[in-house]
Amino acid sequence: MSNLNLLELKNVTKTFTSGFLFKKKIVAVDNVSFNIPREKASIFVLAGESGSGKSTVARIILGFIRPDKGEVLYRGKNIFSFDSKEFTMYRKEVQAVFQDPYSSFNPVYPVDHILSVTAKRISRDENKDIDKIIDEALINVGLRPSEVRNKYPYQLSGGQRQRVLFARALLPRPKLIIADEPVSMLDASLRAEILNLMLDLKTKLGISFLYITHDLATANYVGDYIAVLYKGSLVEMGPIDKVMSEPLHPYTKLLMSSVPVPDPFKRWEGRISTPETEAIHGTTSGCKFYDRCPFRKDECKKDSPPLKSIGDRFVACFLY
Ligand code: ADP
Ligand code: MG
Repeated sequence: MSNLNLLELKNVTKTFTSGFLFKKKIVAVDNVSFNIPREKASIFVLAGESGSGKSTVARIILGFIRPDKGEVLYRGKNIFSFDSKEFTMYRKEVQAVFQDPYSSFNPVYPVDHILSVTAKRISRDENKDIDKIIDEALINVGLRPSEVRNKYPYQLSGGQRQRVLFARALLPRPKLIIADEPVSMLDASLRAEILNLMLDLKTKLGISFLYITHDLATANYVGDYIAVLYKGSLVEMGPIDKVMSEPLHPYTKLLMSSVPVPDPFKRWEGRISTPETEAIHGTTSGCKFYDRCPFRKDECKKDSPPLKSIGDRFVACFLY
């Protein structure tokens, strides 16, 4: 039953056109399906190198862009067929935190004001004092209200700014937070702090995360489950400890070989370091990893391998 899922993507595809007469086609997201279960809070990692389509997936989930094909289901219902009341509920329950906390704020307002717009709405809904709501959110992200409420974004450290972003996301009592590279701009010690914050919010508040990253070490540190994206296609998916310890897809194997010690506290260790992906232009047949695959066979050139289930895992490769 799809209702067992909080969020489900079914065959989601998005093609962008650009260039002269919009003739250049970029398949940013190609037939992507995955689901985030409802029963227990978890951290689902969407990993891939730059240009693999991660942020496009995030923007589709948040309803900013419509897929050309496929569906996004929230609690079993297509988000693009929500009426306005349902969509309002969805926009409360599914929040987003992005990479650069500085550009996510209006720099002319102090923290108090940044949080007050949403807090006012919550205060009406819950008949609760605005100050209390703001304090609670700040405390939940490990900030001392009296210390930060009157400060402007430039007066905060990078880690504090990222925490304020999480606080703002917490205000509407979300069930799911889409975190698109939330620690990429932070240095090593702060990165660990924010990852620990995510783990904390999962356990204490029961919030699930879609954690989007190009960094497998941080993925391994926080994730419960991982989906690996390559040129818009999912190549492998499964419980993170299994995928990390015994990757199946040749691409995932290549990635793992660049993560000698999965230590999220070291900068760039375990970063996906393969060459920048060129998204697939137009339609191609065959496996997208063909040119780089050490195990390629003739059939890999002809057909593209479907995502196949193997035990509790999935892999898109003719080797299996
Ligand atoms: P990632 O977040 O993994 O780096 P993106 O989802 O941002 O990847 O981009 C995937 C591909 O889609 C890239 O080739 C990117 O250039 C292209 N793309 C993303 N958004 C647009 C857009 N609005 N118009 C045209 N191409 C886009
Ligand atoms: Mg991105």
